[in-house]
Order: sequence, then C-alpha cells, then structure tokens
Amino acid sequence: MIGVSVLGSTGSIGVSTLDVLSRHPDRYRAVALTANRDVDGLEAQCLKFRPELAVMADAGAARELAARLAGRLPGTRVAQGPDGLVEAASLDSAGYVMAAIVGAAGLLPALAAAEAGKRILLANKEALVVSGQLFMDSVARSGATLLPIDSEHNAVFQCMPRDFADGLQRVGVSRILLTASGGPFRTAALETLATVTPEQACAHPNWDMGRKISVDSATMMNKGLEVIEACWLFATTPDRVKVVLHPQSVVHSLVQYSDGSVLAELGNPDMRTPIAHALAWPERIESGVADLDLFQVARLDFEAPDLARFPCLALAYRAIETGGSAPAVLNAANEVAVDAFLNRRMGFTDIARVVEQTLDALPVEPADDLAALLEVDRRARSAAEQKVTRLV
Ligand code: NAD
Ligand code: MG
Repeated sequence: MIGVSVLGSTGSIGVSTLDVLSRHPDRYRAVALTANRDVDGLEAQCLKFRPELAVMADAGAARELAARLAGRLPGTRVAQGPDGLVEAASLDSAGYVMAAIVGAAGLLPALAAAEAGKRILLANKEALVVSGQLFMDSVARSGATLLPIDSEHNAVFQCMPRDFADGLQRVGVSRILLTASGGPFRTAALETLATVTPEQACAHPNWDMGRKISVDSATMMNKGLEVIEACWLFATTPDRVKVVLHPQSVVHSLVQYSDGSVLAELGNPDMRTPIAHALAWPERIESGVADLDLFQVARLDFEAPDLARFPCLALAYRAIETGGSAPAVLNAANEVAVDAFLNRRMGFTDIARVVEQTLDALPVEPADDLAALLEVDRRARSAAEQKVTRLV
C-alpha cells in the first residue's frame, strides 16, 4: 500500500488525482490532503479519504476545519500555513507526493518533497520555473523520482528512451515538440483581445482547469512556462524545444529523433491519464479515461504559433535564454498580472505588457540559492504590482 500526499487536493488536478486513487484502494491511500481556504471542499474530502493530515494554508480556514472535524475524525490531524504544507510534503507515510498547488506558493512544499526523496508527481510547473537548478539538484541529491504530470511533459517522458538523463543528443533525441491548443483566442480578431473578459479567457476549448492556468493557456504563457519546464526536466536548451499549435489536443506532445523518427503520445484530453501514468510507472493502471476514438477525432491539425498574437510565449523564451533569475521574475510578474486581469483591474493584453515591463525593470541575478530566489520573487511581485497600478 503506497501513501500519497495530495498537495492542492481541492483543485482541478487534486480532484482528478483523488478520482484515480479511489479506483485503486488496494494500491494507494491518501495520507495527506491540503488546500488554501476551501474549508467545505477539504472537509468533504477528509470525510471520504480519512487522511492522517489535513492542511489549510490559511490559518482561519484551518481553525474552522479543525472545529468541524473535531470528534468526527480522530485519526486526522489538522495543520496550517507554510509549515503544514511542508509537513504534508515530507510525511514519513507518504511515498508519493502530488504537487498540485498553483503558482510559486507550491515551491517550498515541492522542494521539501524533493529533499525528502519522495516520488514527486509534478503538476506545479511554476515551482520548476522559479527554482529549476535548485530543484533538479535537490532531486539528484536525495534520489527522489521526478515524474511530470503536465500532459505535454508526461507525453514527452513516455516517448523518451529510458536513459535520457545521459543527455538528449547522446540518446539520439534531436528535438522536443510541445503541442499547444492555442486556447480560446487562437482565431479571434486581434483587436478584440484587449476587451475579452475573464469568463471568456477561462473557457478553454479542450481542458477543464483552474482559472490561473486557463488564463495562461489563453495568453500562451502556459506554453512558455512549459518550454522552461521542459528544459529542466529533460536537461536541454530552449533551441531544442519547439512549440506546435494543435487545436484538437489529442497529440499531447512529440519527441523527434536524429534518424527522422517522431514518437508521439495521443489520448483524450483528460488529466487522469498522466496522473495514472505517473502513479503506476513503470506499470499501467486504469484511469477512468474513455478509449480514444480516432474515427471520431478524424483529423489532426498542426500550425506555427503567431508571436504577435501570443507575446507571452516570446517573453518566456527570452527569460529562459537570459537565465539566472529571469524565469523567476517572469513567473512572479505573470502571477500578479493574471490575478489583476481575473479581478478586472486591467485588460487581457495588459498581461504581456506588465510581464515585459517587469522583466525590463529588474536586474538579472544568479539563481543558485533559495533565499535569493524568494527575494527575487518578492521584488518582482512588487514591481509588477506597481505596473498594474500605473495602468489603471
Ligand atoms: P486549481 O486552481 O484548480 O487548484 C489549485 C489548488 O492549490 C487548490 O487546491 C488550492 O486550494 C490550492 N492553493 C491555491 N493557492 C494556494 C496557496 N497560496 N497555498 C496553498 N495552496 C494553495 O489549479 P489546477 O488547475 O489544479 O492547477 C494546479 C497546478 O497544476 C498548476 O501549477 C497548474 O499549472 C498545473 N497544471 C494543471 C493542469 C490542469 O489540467 N488543471 C494541467 C497541467 C498542469
Ligand atoms: Mg500542459
């Protein structure tokens, strides 16, 4: 029986993870569940899964949860705040940790799971974007197993030879091709983008996701973050990671080899597939996802992304090519900008503007120590917040 700690269990990935776990009660047990401040959601999950530990990031929410569970679940301890999240990520009884908190808020717990040598199922791409080198060093030091949940990276992982960590060229891989749906505005008239609403931006054509990643998909910053994520996960450089628009989201990504072969992973767009893959790897388990019906799919389209429509993608390439603290600045500025857009403080096209101005404003520093990176994150947020205020 494998204990699984699910960080961000009330979110889109968290709920899909619990769905897969509940299909295999003989194999997996949820030992820790965490959420930000959704007390109703975490209470219901606790009553169903009876974890050892339940953590609410928000202290008031944690008190409320503890009061509601008192006397009903004697086996479940309630903890709070950043320390509680780190404890959930390093719990002795958890062999596996699903890192599915959204944003840099998930960085410290994801790093704690790496340091504790867990099998890390990484959905929280922002953690790797902010602290790529530190994260990968920590995984190597502790002997942790890092498996990607992001559908593209999970697909790439499935198409890679086993010994890819020896270097992609040495194993004959010439390029990683990341597919992208292009989001809800792939064909919208460019002049309409300034006035689109958060509801329109969150209405993704193929995937049902949290609001932050849905906006990131609409700007294609999500794909930019994924290019950076791919560079760290597969020890490669941005010139070897190419983005391909593929509106059907059936081909989840591809790996091109030096002999001309291209391997792809296909499936229905349902995150339970990569989740089940990473849980069971190298075995396979049932995920609840319907069989892919190729006759119904009928056709697969591919096109080049238009950088005038998706300036955030170019900004992400700029950040990873610059290196050092630039990806951390990109991520922090984007989190602030997306939040400002979702709260209707500024327009959709202002997101790229705020990110670019923040990248321009902050110096590039080394990114080899955690305290320095957290300071970069803090300064980039405050600079981005100033840009937002100046816009409105
Ligand atoms: P979501 O918004 O649906 O869920 C986020 C979860 O994190 C919730 O449980 C929430 O309570 C928790 N959380 C939010 N802020 C927090 C904070 N400050 N401290 C502690 N916990 C906090 O998001 P999601 O769509 O499930 O995405 C989660 C992560 O997975 C993101 O990094 C996203 O990029 C990545 N991802 C998601 C999908 C998808 O299909 N949803 C696909 C690929 C990657
Ligand atoms: Mg993805």
